[in-house]
Amino acid sequence: MPLDTQWAIRWMHEAHQLVAQYREVLIDLDRHIGDADHGENLDRGFTAVDTALRRQQWRTPGEVLNAVAKILMSTVGGASGSLYSAGFLKASTRLTSDSLSADDVVSLLEGVVQGIQSRGKAMPGEKTMLDAWHPALESARASAQAGAEALTALKAAASAARAGADATLDMVATKGRASYLGQRSVGHIDPGAYSSALILEAAVAAANSMEG
Ligand code: ADP
Ligand code: MG
Repeated sequence: MPLDTQWAIRWMHEAHQLVAQYREVLIDLDRHIGDADHGENLDRGFTAVDTALRRQQWRTPGEVLNAVAKILMSTVGGASGSLYSAGFLKASTRLTSDSLSADDVVSLLEGVVQGIQSRGKAMPGEKTMLDAWHPALESARASAQAGAEALTALKAAASAARAGADATLDMVATKGRASYLGQRSVGHIDPGAYSSALILEAAVAAANSMEG
């Protein structure tokens, strides 16, 4: 199935569902190394996104992601609100076609990574959401370069994001609220990396659900 405008809307619907389902998990992760609000922040944000997207007509995936960025900015709060917003905003400017090719999937992820980095100034390895998005980008790029189709590149990105999120367990946080804990942040998965993996898994679920 094409990764088109309907897919982008469906993606955000699935993200809302997954974030709601994992709300308590995200809250618990953030309780360990933050202030226990990540699940609540994201649930509020993606509820608003899902509701708003259903109310209007959208022309392109880029237009959808632009709206997502604005809604997340005004509803999520916390560090993650402005970071996710910056990521989706930059991604939206990179998408010009009606339907994403594998290279467009790479561009989308490049946009998210650049947006998050320009806002948060983190590098991979600092135990943040970037540790999910950066490996996702690398994996999608390798997949696209090997000639894969868009959905295959997206699936590669989602699995790399999940592995990346899991790998934050052993990292020391040096950015954001978790950095106050220093070494004591080791042994916990970063909530933002976990939610980022969920969001990419939602992108795959959206594509799969439209196939049937
Ligand atoms: P807050 O930390 O303000 O309570 P959230 O709990 O919603 O906000 O989000 C926390 C998440 O934000 C972290 O788990 C981490 O993934 C991400 N984060 C925080 N600071 C940065 C940063 N500078 N760069 C990238 N991600 C960051
Ligand atoms: Mg928090």
